[in-house]
Amino acid sequence: MEDRILLIPAMAAPSSPTAIPLTPEASGDTPQPSQQTESAVVENPTEAEASAHRDNSPNPEHPQKTGAQANQPLLGQSLEALTAWMVAQEQPAYRGKQLHQWLYQQGARSLQDITVFPKAWRQQVEGVSVGRSEIYHRTEASDGTVKYLLKLADGQIIEAVGMPSAKRLTVCVSSQVGCPMACDFCATGKGGFLRNLATHEIVDQVLTVQEDFGQRVSNIVFMGMGEPLLNTDNVVAAIRCLNQDVGISQRSMTLSTVGIPGRIRKLADEQLQVTLAVSLHASNQAQRQDLIPSAKAYPLTELLAECRDYVKLTGRRVTFEYILLAGLNDQPQNAAELAQHLRGFQSHVNLIPYNPISEVDYQRPSEASIREFVAQLESRHIAVSVRYSRGLEENAACGQLRASKVA
Ligand code: SAH
Repeated sequence: MEDRILLIPAMAAPSSPTAIPLTPEASGDTPQPSQQTESAVVENPTEAEASAHRDNSPNPEHPQKTGAQANQPLLGQSLEALTAWMVAQEQPAYRGKQLHQWLYQQGARSLQDITVFPKAWRQQVEGVSVGRSEIYHRTEASDGTVKYLLKLADGQIIEAVGMPSAKRLTVCVSSQVGCPMACDFCATGKGGFLRNLATHEIVDQVLTVQEDFGQRVSNIVFMGMGEPLLNTDNVVAAIRCLNQDVGISQRSMTLSTVGIPGRIRKLADEQLQVTLAVSLHASNQAQRQDLIPSAKAYPLTELLAECRDYVKLTGRRVTFEYILLAGLNDQPQNAAELAQHLRGFQSHVNLIPYNPISEVDYQRPSEASIREFVAQLESRHIAVSVRYSRGLEENAACGQLRASKVA
């Protein structure tokens, strides 16, 4: 099936900042230490390009060094870092607070937008990048879901999705350009991998959706393009920034991972309050490694052991995502195996009926067999829900994101 993306003319980036009444809600999260990046760590050996890019990322721990140079994005940096940068620019410290407010609440896309700053000084810092992307294409599905293709500073295109509902605005964010995991049922994986996203490029996605909808984002899911735990440092920094600087509760954020050995335990050390969702998709090792190539080197038992440690270390339950593929992993025996693995596990199963992509001929199960699978799990006292994807008709649903096709 051809991608049915309607190419709506690129939305012009607002020339003046969009002022939305974006007073941060009290998040209820415990205060977090200031953001950190571990720029020296190469998360994935195939990512030479990504690590080179990361070296350019703002490092809030050394704001004077990074922020004071031209072309270092300011977005993604904490109030302290922005203040230090302003001071290094020989500006009064209170201007740091103004900068923070304009970046995170007023939608400033350039220092030139910040009209409270002296004009002469703005001219001096003309080359300094705020770090906002451009909306390259925008498509709206009939259920209100909006898919954005965003153009990054280096010309790469990524996708972000905004999903409105009665009380919420959820953003599905990308963590990488493409994805190296190559899961067989996932469109992103078919397009290959280019690089990790920097912290500001993740934060920018949320601000873009928020500004375009003119409504505060309430929830964030890291379920767009990419594998977040191959980009842990920047993803964690983005989570902290979105929490502390943008004002979104960590409890309203979900990080979805297919599982990278050792990384779930490492994530637990970050003491975040986000929900961890693990893409399981199979009830036994043989089936899982058929669907997910990386599972060969990471047996199901080890993944589950790591998840158990995560629950122990954080006190938070884990969500297991399970794509239902008709005739393949939706059989009563699969439900029995899954229940066996999860017995006594503080967890929740999220069933996702498969969303068709063009390259493979998996089938979405019927409603009756979805209900039957739910019943099989419930009869074994497993907490379960079915997630019906939004934006299916515009290929904006789970697993259907692949910007390269239209870029
Ligand atoms: N790499 C991460 C996050 C991106 S995918 C992960 O694997 O979890 C986000 C969710 O969408 C995952 O659960 C993923 O398995 C699911 N998904 C991928 N392709 C899909 C498809 N064709 N239909 C339904 N869900 C899909």
